[in-house]
Amino acid sequence: MSLDALWFDPTKCFINGTWVPPVDGQFLPLVDPSDGSEICKIARGTTADIDAAVQAAQTALGGEWGRMTALERGRILTRIGQLVLDRVDALAEIESRDVGKPLTQARNDAIALARYMEFYGGAADKIHGETIPYMEGYTVYTLREPHGVTGHIVPWNYPMQIIGRSVGAALTMGNAAVLKPAEEACLTALAFAEIAREAGLPDGALNVVPGLGGEAGAALSAHAGVHHISFTGSVGVGKLIQTAAAQNVVPVTLELGGKSPQLVFDDADIDAALPFLVNAGCQNAGQTCSASSRILVQRGVYDQVRDAMAERYRAMKVGPAMEDLNLGPLISMRQKEIVTGFLAKGRDLKVAATGEIVAHAPANGAYVVPTLFDDVPPDHTLAQDEIFGPVQVLIPFETEEQALQIANGTEFGLVASVWTQNGARQMRLAKALKSGQVFINNYGAGGGVELPFGGTGKSGHGREKGFEALYGFSSLKTVAAFHG
Ligand code: NAD
Repeated sequence: MSLDALWFDPTKCFINGTWVPPVDGQFLPLVDPSDGSEICKIARGTTADIDAAVQAAQTALGGEWGRMTALERGRILTRIGQLVLDRVDALAEIESRDVGKPLTQARNDAIALARYMEFYGGAADKIHGETIPYMEGYTVYTLREPHGVTGHIVPWNYPMQIIGRSVGAALTMGNAAVLKPAEEACLTALAFAEIAREAGLPDGALNVVPGLGGEAGAALSAHAGVHHISFTGSVGVGKLIQTAAAQNVVPVTLELGGKSPQLVFDDADIDAALPFLVNAGCQNAGQTCSASSRILVQRGVYDQVRDAMAERYRAMKVGPAMEDLNLGPLISMRQKEIVTGFLAKGRDLKVAATGEIVAHAPANGAYVVPTLFDDVPPDHTLAQDEIFGPVQVLIPFETEEQALQIANGTEFGLVASVWTQNGARQMRLAKALKSGQVFINNYGAGGGVELPFGGTGKSGHGREKGFEALYGFSSLKTVAAFHG
């Protein structure tokens, strides 16, 4: 797509329903990770732009947006969803260039964004308070109210899906949002803002300020006018956000990634499991918070699973995003350095198989070879740390007890899955696994707008997606009326 075909100005911020240049007049290069070329400049928003965005959001809450009924808000979200669907191909192309994800995957993300808008559009008028039996002469009920201004700091790996789940739920509950997209990938955030404007979202209800994490991101998380912060990204930055929010005593939702296991037992349907075992680790070149990077396999089927996964790895092609191969590049050369650093730490391990970077892949692209490690000790760095690249480790186990111990033996707890035909074992493990989501005989890396999602331990806290997110993006007021 030529930049002329964009329906928004990528160099500007979106504040109070209009496109404005950054106050400081500074810009950042946006790089295409498939070949290292510059796509365009983006605004380098700073504190002044965040101030203006928060001010616009506050004004929106006191105006048309704040007065809208849940039904009207829902209709706007549904319209946004329809407009997103109308532009799925264009959004996919933009995301593909910006993030480096193969076109088909980018297209799925655009469809998921529309789906979030449909889901939350329909849910807007279905969130109710309760009446509570209390003492004689009282009527007591609860009201669900918006927090006010919500700050959304999103990463580069799934911009559309993460905007959908976080901004979508916040708007549904009547909050006014300020969104700080990642500096590596912010085009679809800007595209979404213009679509929302076209759908009739009142001025100031959504504001987008691109910029660096340490500048615009830090300014947003520390802003005294922000009443809730939702963050998806690294553990280190999550801690900074929570610390900043604590100064203003505002709630935070942190989604910080994981080291999600799949447990394959001797009685599993291996053929059914195989695509999930591999794709859940390599989708989006492994840059998925809910990527399944640990594959735990019971001894009796270990060789069979390893060999079948290895065959899939050997068939894997990595190349420019627009060629729509199995994998694209990583987001950046910096991310490539991180992942190759991890691969170097695996020098002492056996490699079961690798994929292949196509010969014509540009030298300046951020490509890494997908790698499946064999028979990895559970305490090895590669079995403990989030790599955020197309790297999976196979870990053998003997008993259910041992599998559980290994599965729960990291600092994270985001997603887990259990492959077994044994119903009692399914139920036991679903309870015992330390994880925000457990899948049985399937695995949903990031999927399911209806399914509450979030972590335990270092994977973070708070829940997004589904109705649960709507509770998180609202605060509960109890009204106790004495009438005698
Ligand atoms: P990051 O945490 O640095 O960035 C995520 C978002 O936070 C971006 O919008 C960034 O601008 C912003 N940010 C950065 N510093 C900030 C600060 N001081 N205050 C406020 N906002 C700030 O993640 P990254 O550097 O893009 O990736 C590094 C690692 O993080 C990856 O290797 C991966 O392990 C992890 N990660 C996880 C997820 C996830 O979905 N859980 C997503 C992206 C990255």
